[in-house]
Amino acid sequence: MESSFSFDQFGLSPKVIRAIRDMGFEEPTPIQTSAIPAILAGRDITGQAQTGTGKTAAFGIPALERLDARTRKTQVLILSPTRELAIQTSEEIARLATHLPHTTVLPVYGGQPIERQLRALHAGVMIVVGTPGRLLDHLRRGTLDLTAVTFVVLDEADRMLDMGFLPDIETILKRTPQSRQTVLFSATMPEPIRAISRR
Ligand code: AMP
Repeated sequence: MESSFSFDQFGLSPKVIRAIRDMGFEEPTPIQTSAIPAILAGRDITGQAQTGTGKTAAFGIPALERLDARTRKTQVLILSPTRELAIQTSEEIARLATHLPHTTVLPVYGGQPIERQLRALHAGVMIVVGTPGRLLDHLRRGTLDLTAVTFVVLDEADRMLDMGFLPDIETILKRTPQSRQTVLFSATMPEPIRAISRR
């Protein structure tokens, strides 16, 4: 008999459930319990969560659930303040996607030779996790197409604000469809972050 698994409550696909089990997660963290159903329901949400709370899986799991496997176009865009976080987030999502072999995830950040990113982007990346500066660079070169994006995550929004990325973020968001779903995670909620999430 299949024993019940606490992640079953979200109605996730069996391949994602299998990856979650492989990763050794036994039960959802509080941020996952509140964010996963809300994101799956298509709502724009704001989550106050520090690193270590399981926030990456809180948006990574619904991101995988909403991908259209018939196209390799970029459908999910995750904005990260730093190269380290972009790499870490991309790795966590790749682990969650272990049993979804057609899913492609790529971290895109400054400091890495752009040619490698160009080749990968050209081949088609369904989930792009990037720092704002380098994403803007790709948009200017015409090497990143965000017109098929349905889901955007602003991760560690307060850090991106502190680093002066707000104008870049606005420019990037303008290149995505208005109909997209947007979620914002931040450790703190200063007024400018609240203003972004209200919009
Ligand atoms: P994050 O807050 O996203 O940086 O996650 C912190 C760490 O917790 C990562 O190593 C995750 O793989 C792990 N993690 C995320 N969700 C769970 C969970 N439900 N149970 C156990 N570990 C988890």
